[in-house]
Amino acid sequence: MAATAASGDVPFLRLPDPYTQFRRRAERLRHLASRQHSLAEYLRFIAGVADAQQDAAREFAVAVAGDDLTGWAPDDSLPRLSVHRCVLPHDWRSALETVTDRCRNNGAEIANVIGALSQSPPEQVDGWAKAVLVGDYTQIDPGTAAIIGAALQVVWTAWCAHLGIAPPRTEHRSECPVCGSRPVVSVIAAGGAEHGLRYLCCGLCATQWNLPRIRCIHCGSTEGIAYYAVEGSNQAVKAEACGQCGTYSKILNLEKDPKLDPFADDLASLALDIMLADAGFERFGANPFLIPAA
Ligand SMILES: [Zn+2]
Ligand SMILES: [Zn+2]
Repeated sequence: MAATAASGDVPFLRLPDPYTQFRRRAERLRHLASRQHSLAEYLRFIAGVADAQQDAAREFAVAVAGDDLTGWAPDDSLPRLSVHRCVLPHDWRSALETVTDRCRNNGAEIANVIGALSQSPPEQVDGWAKAVLVGDYTQIDPGTAAIIGAALQVVWTAWCAHLGIAPPRTEHRSECPVCGSRPVVSVIAAGGAEHGLRYLCCGLCATQWNLPRIRCIHCGSTEGIAYYAVEGSNQAVKAEACGQCGTYSKILNLEKDPKLDPFADDLASLALDIMLADAGFERFGANPFLIPAA
């Protein structure tokens, strides 16, 4: 992950590396599963999906290397990669095909999802993909959303690696400055110029952007912020909850545990989501493999 777009002493953006992003996630998921985790079977399954994503990302990153992703669309102020434009690249289905091909033998349940997906008309699949992009899971079943979300992560992560210019720093930082998606979690960075700083990690493209600590990601409040952790679990993973707007998001402290991975450790800490839901807080954040029940 490369820091970029420095302003003052604080690097604002950290861009993902599509050649290693998903492999590291798969390794972390398998490590977590090996520790007799109650969700071990699911974590191993998602590790298989991450393997498929890494294969697809390698191919897609090469394919987009020649694209012009250097700026903002001339007709509006949105970044070219913004999900709010609701535009799919014409070849996004090649990433979907690679992901589904590699996942087909990952169990009967996913084989059924992939079978149904491959029978669906392309316009239908595109419609689901656009819904997943903007976080609308009301018209799509969770398995299909997860597979489509996996392919979209590949496409956007590959694009980010070829971003020509840095997006402007904005005050409203609850959405990814590159693609406009919500963060999956935030991390406290360890080492280098970013040591001790908080970065939000995009749930779609995995770009990380700086936001000061002890501040609500959703409403920006610096008051009424409280931290929760599940007793007996990894204390480097906490929930930051806001008493002002009633939302929470997870915060992973890499100073305490440098092996934490935003997506893997988010899934592995599902007990924390249950705890915060019981306390009346609503999750702020996106993870295509952690879709709220309808
Ligand atoms: Zn993003
Ligand atoms: Zn808030």
